[in-house]
Amino acid sequence: PSVVNRIAAGEVIQRPYSAVKELVENSLDAGSTSINVVVKDGGLKLIQVSDNGHGIRYEDLPILCERHTTSKLSTYEDLQSIQSMGFRGEALASMTYVGHVTVTTITEGQLHGYRVSYRDGVMEHEPRPCAAVKGTQIMIENLFYNMTARRKMLQNSNDDYSKILDTICRFAVHNVNVSFSCRKHGANRADVHTVGTCSRLDAIRSVYGASVARDLMEIEASDDDPSRLVFKMDGFTSDANYVAKKTTLVLFINGRLVECAALKRAIEVVYAATLPKASKPFIYMSIMLPPEHVDVNIHPTKREVSLLNQESLIDNIQSAVESKLRHSNT
Ligand code: ADP
Ligand code: MG
Repeated sequence: PSVVNRIAAGEVIQRPYSAVKELVENSLDAGSTSINVVVKDGGLKLIQVSDNGHGIRYEDLPILCERHTTSKLSTYEDLQSIQSMGFRGEALASMTYVGHVTVTTITEGQLHGYRVSYRDGVMEHEPRPCAAVKGTQIMIENLFYNMTARRKMLQNSNDDYSKILDTICRFAVHNVNVSFSCRKHGANRADVHTVGTCSRLDAIRSVYGASVARDLMEIEASDDDPSRLVFKMDGFTSDANYVAKKTTLVLFINGRLVECAALKRAIEVVYAATLPKASKPFIYMSIMLPPEHVDVNIHPTKREVSLLNQESLIDNIQSAVESKLRHSNT
C-alpha cells in the first residue's frame, strides 16, 4: 500500500512548483496577509512556506496529513460550490509520501506553538511545544527522495526554481492584499517581493516590471442575461507596444490559479488578427463563474480547468479583448 500511496502522491505533486502552489493555497485559505517562500536546490532540498494565517489547532495535528483530511468541506453540497481553494485534503498527505514534512504552527491566543514531522501520512512523534510567531510554517525537505527517476530528471532540468517563482508571481498579482516573497535559501535578496497593499497595476509592476505594466489596458466583460452563462471577467491586457517572445496569461477562475489552453489560444488569435506585431500578449484575467460551471476536479493537480459552456465564454472574452484592441489601435 505504501508504494501505491507514493505513486498516487507523485501524481498530485508532480514537480516542486505543484507543492508550492498547494502550500500557498492553504496559506491563502487560512486568511494570511503575508506569505514567504524559501527554496533550496529548485525545491528538491527544501521548500518552506511561512504564513501569518489562523494556524492549525493542536487537536488537528495528528490527522493533518491523513488523506482526505480537510477542514474545508462538510457536505456533498459543499463539493458542488467550493469557494476555498482546497477541498480534497490530499495535498499535505501526498507531500508526506514523497518528502519529509515538518509543520510549525500557532493558533490565536496560544502562548507557544507546536512542531511536528510527518512521514507517509502519519506523525513521526507527538507535537513538540516550541516558540512560534503567528501562523504556520510548512517545510518540505528532500522532495522525491524515494523516487529516484523523478529526482534525477528534475536535478538535470534546472528550471524548477523559475517555475516556482512564476507561480508566486501569479499569486502576487492576483492577491494584491497579500504580501508575497520568494527567495533562494541563503540569499538575502528576494526574487519577488510585493507589499500587500497596492493596486493591481502596482502589483504587476513590482512583479513583472515597469515595461510590462506600462503597456497594459483594462479589460472587462460580463454576461448577466439569465438565459445564458452568467460570468464576470476583468483584467489587463497588453497594447500594441508590448512585444514579447511568448504569451503570458495569468488566469484566475473563482480565485483559483488555473490554466486554460483554449482560452489562451483564442486570445492569441485575436491579437494575431488585430495587432500582428504584438501578437504575444501579456494578460492578467480574473473570471468569476457560478461554481457549478467550473470543473476543477478534472486533474489532481487542479491546474487545467474545464468549463461548462466554455465556447460561449471564450467567444464573449474574445470580443471584449478584440473591441479593446480595435479602440486602442485607432
Ligand atoms: P485541503 O486544502 O484540500 O483541505 P490539504 O491537504 O491541502 O487539504 O490541507 C489539509 C488541511 O490542513 C486543510 O484543510 C487545513 O485545515 C490545514 N492546513 C494546511 N495548511 C494550512 C495553513 N497554512 N494554515 C492553516 N491550516 C492549514
Ligand atoms: Mg490545500
